[in-house]
Amino acid sequence: MSAQANRVMDPSEWEERWQEGRIGFHQLHVHKMLESNIDKVLCGREGVRFFFPLCGKAVDMKWLADKGHSVVGVEISEKAIKQFFEEQKLDYSEEVVSDIPGSKVFKSSDGKISLYQCDLYKFSSAIAGQFGGIWDRGSLVAINPCDRQRYATLIMSLMDKDCRYLLDTLHYNPELYKGPPFFVPEEDIEKLY
Ligand code: SAH
Repeated sequence: MSAQANRVMDPSEWEERWQEGRIGFHQLHVHKMLESNIDKVLCGREGVRFFFPLCGKAVDMKWLADKGHSVVGVEISEKAIKQFFEEQKLDYSEEVVSDIPGSKVFKSSDGKISLYQCDLYKFSSAIAGQFGGIWDRGSLVAINPCDRQRYATLIMSLMDKDCRYLLDTLHYNPELYKGPPFFVPEEDIEKLY
């Protein structure tokens, strides 16, 4: 069994990271893997609805919106979401999401980017439909290893028929680093999806 199988992070630990600015995962530039695979993801489609699980304040969301797509993200930290809109200089509004008690949705005023502040496992296609593209960066590798099956089931339920899923993982020896990001072996990914 992997050294990381029993690692569990509580959502409050992520909030602490945001509060203390320990967000080494955040990148200032559009992710290379998204840039180099965008044509394969789009497959000639325009105006694709993208889903960003565990979105943080990824600048990739603005990049896709600027190309005419729309983005829905889910993020537990309100601070992350507010920083996203402020840093990207986007006006936004916030509303309560009545179907998810205690959560809010933050929407850019042009309506292209909607970020749900809630626990990912409370989100579903009943809230925001299905998606034509999913960009999974720092998400499958960030969730607790014991939740992977539940996570994959949720992600698949959010896929439209023509959905394309782009996933970023990393290879390293899990005996030497406790994560996150966690090591997700390729055979596990094949089994999950
Ligand atoms: N995808 C982003 C952030 C990756 S780090 C990027 O590439 O920069 C993982 C993010 O998931 C953190 O911002 C953390 O606050 C958020 N998160 C962790 N567990 C969560 C959960 N259960 N529901 C929603 N967000 C969560």
